[in-house]
Amino acid sequence: MSAKRDYYEVLGVARNAGADEIKKAYRKLAVKFHPDKNPGDAAAEEKFKELGEAYEALSDPDKRAAYDRYGHAAFGGAAAGGGGRGGFHDPMDLFSQVFGGAFGGGFEEFFGGAPQRGRSGRQRGSDLRYDLEITLEEAARGIEKELEIERYTPCDACGAKGSKGPGGVKSCPTCGGRGVIARQAGIFIQQSTCPECRGAGEIIADPCTQCRGEGRVQRDSRIKLRIPAGVDTGTRLRSSGNGDAGVRGGSAGDLYVFLHVRDHDVFDRDGPDLHCEVPLPFTTAALGGELKVPTLDGQSSIKIPAGTQGGTVFRIRDKGIPSLSGGHRGDLHVSVQVEVPTKLNSEQQEKLREFAASIGDHNSPMQESFFQKARRFFEL
Ligand SMILES: [Zn+2]
Ligand SMILES: [Zn+2]
Repeated sequence: MSAKRDYYEVLGVARNAGADEIKKAYRKLAVKFHPDKNPGDAAAEEKFKELGEAYEALSDPDKRAAYDRYGHAAFGGAAAGGGGRGGFHDPMDLFSQVFGGAFGGGFEEFFGGAPQRGRSGRQRGSDLRYDLEITLEEAARGIEKELEIERYTPCDACGAKGSKGPGGVKSCPTCGGRGVIARQAGIFIQQSTCPECRGAGEIIADPCTQCRGEGRVQRDSRIKLRIPAGVDTGTRLRSSGNGDAGVRGGSAGDLYVFLHVRDHDVFDRDGPDLHCEVPLPFTTAALGGELKVPTLDGQSSIKIPAGTQGGTVFRIRDKGIPSLSGGHRGDLHVSVQVEVPTKLNSEQQEKLREFAASIGDHNSPMQESFFQKARRFFEL
């Protein structure tokens, strides 16, 4: 790439062009050189970037004044030409801005009909979204579900062709089969979708009564979906070809299933790991023993060492959730909550008093260290 081209020359406007004129010129050229319209064409992409830069510089009054005075030097390092973009925005963002957000009607209008619409009036079906709630157990094990959704499916009556008999499809007389009509607007030729055939380029002379010429009908359909083990809330599964059927035999869209894993009564999930809290009798905490714990695979038990404190976490390996990519399974973390009995009879109370007397103040390591640290508060 040699020296940078003059921005006015890039947009093909005079040096005294008004803001509207600059915008119009940009819109027209940006559509022409848009990467979506020129896939794999590096020269067009370069041109598209150059247009974005020129438009950005000339659409801002301050930048334009600076450019008029200093030329490309006004925008710093970019003056020498070559790679630097000298602080300009992403050309795709700029394009979306000028065309009012995401590719909406404006974009299609400028392309003259929806880009995916083919010559034969075929049109790809829409992608569909389905939100599915599953349980934690289902997420951990994987499951096959049958979804019932209302969607377009190919019309059986006409074999998805849209016409009752053969020869019912004719070239549109209004647009001559092009799907777009052109209209002079000032010095520009503006194209818009043909109102007669709505861009299809064809009209149906004897439309099928079942689908009114669309080649597809809306009905309830059942779709089997295999949910792999390890999915989580936010996992999106694509069921290819299970969206809406296309118009007149066009390819079907896809079905996107968004998963939501319901909260569990016992387990909290943290990625592949599970956490749960299990009550531990204070006698078992002091003396040690077995503690029964729940897992997604059923009951299990852990060994509690004598002198276990409340809040201690025990890890049970491989009792968490399998990884979606087939790696190892997560772990289950069991946090024990030492439970103090609430209803003691007089005999039990007496025994505990005896116990308290025998143990005195000297067998509680946590209490000792606490009193060490907090001594000054008790000596007041
Ligand atoms: Zn039909
Ligand atoms: Zn037409």
